Amino acid sequence: MKRLYWTNPDVYEIEVKVTSIGDCRVTIEPVVFHPDEGGQQPDRGTIGEAEVLGVQIIDGRVVHTLDRPLDDGEYVAQVDREHRLQSARQHTAQHIISGVAEKRFGLKTVGVHIGADTCTVDFDKKIDWQTAQAIERDSMGAVTENIAVETVFGDSDARSRFDLKGIESEMIRVVKIGEYDASACCGTHVRRTGDIGIIRILDIESKKEGTRVAFVAGEKALEFSQVETYALRELRKLVKCSTAELPMLFQKATGSAKSLSKELERLQGLMLPGLAESAEIIDIAGSKVGIQVDAVSGKLAGKLAALIANKIDGTGIVVSEGTIVINSKTLNANDLLARLKEAFGGKGGGSPQTASGKLDGTVTMKGIIGVIRA
Ligand SMILES: [Zn+2]
Repeated sequence: MKRLYWTNPDVYEIEVKVTSIGDCRVTIEPVVFHPDEGGQQPDRGTIGEAEVLGVQIIDGRVVHTLDRPLDDGEYVAQVDREHRLQSARQHTAQHIISGVAEKRFGLKTVGVHIGADTCTVDFDKKIDWQTAQAIERDSMGAVTENIAVETVFGDSDARSRFDLKGIESEMIRVVKIGEYDASACCGTHVRRTGDIGIIRILDIESKKEGTRVAFVAGEKALEFSQVETYALRELRKLVKCSTAELPMLFQKATGSAKSLSKELERLQGLMLPGLAESAEIIDIAGSKVGIQVDAVSGKLAGKLAALIANKIDGTGIVVSEGTIVINSKTLNANDLLARLKEAFGGKGGGSPQTASGKLDGTVTMKGIIGVIRA
């Protein structure tokens, strides 16, 4: 099987011999479409009038799935150049990141994924964000050096980062990028590292004993940087500080929001007896029912309902932030909640003494009185 994209990666249009294997699937000679292998996306394009929907290795053959059947014969195959280059930029960037990580930090690449939106490299050890940034800096160094990406055949000493066992080939293909990397590989690459443009490391994530590094290259990296720059600019305008000050500022803000809500709860707790006093009291079949709507935070609804029930020796109903709590000494709290749920929609339940849940939509004092009087 002759893989043309290995020896002539700049050929995007060529006449190929098509052999149909049924179900809109064909094999072609020479092979110009990179299949779904080595963690890299398959090529897109056309063969004659047919669109190539997928390229997979099945039983050692590169099989193309088309949008329509093709008879055996000669056709012009066209590879989607932009899609190929996009994928090649991400993949070549991965070679550089893996090479830098191994040479400078002794990190072994144990997994690779080149997706349509995000790409990841898995390393065998834990790394911190400073190390990720150092890898990013050195990788960009390789880009600005504009080194030739060389393909060498037959160098069986070069090790591979991927399991090449499933890849059918009569020769070992090694990809060399100056002093940065040399590894056996089946993918597609750019001609020179300068063609990558930008390499950005976006995030690191702990994975078992190792680390997953998310990265992006080329114009996708520019797009990503623009989204981040926009978001940071908006945040700076909002809180009037520099980008470097933002994390500290948000930490402070989150901390003070937490202590404010604690303080609010404490103050509302002090107000509870007064709120029990000011509850709207109505009479249902000779039994007193006290109601408070949106007077305290949802967390304090239960306490207030119990206080009201005790004070009037009847029933307390408290609604706040969608939460409802009913506490009753005289009526069935669960039945009352069931009627309110039926009227407003919602969920929850309990016992004849106490019931709680959530009510949907806007619940007003008038609405509650209307339902329980009915
Ligand atoms: Zn490669």
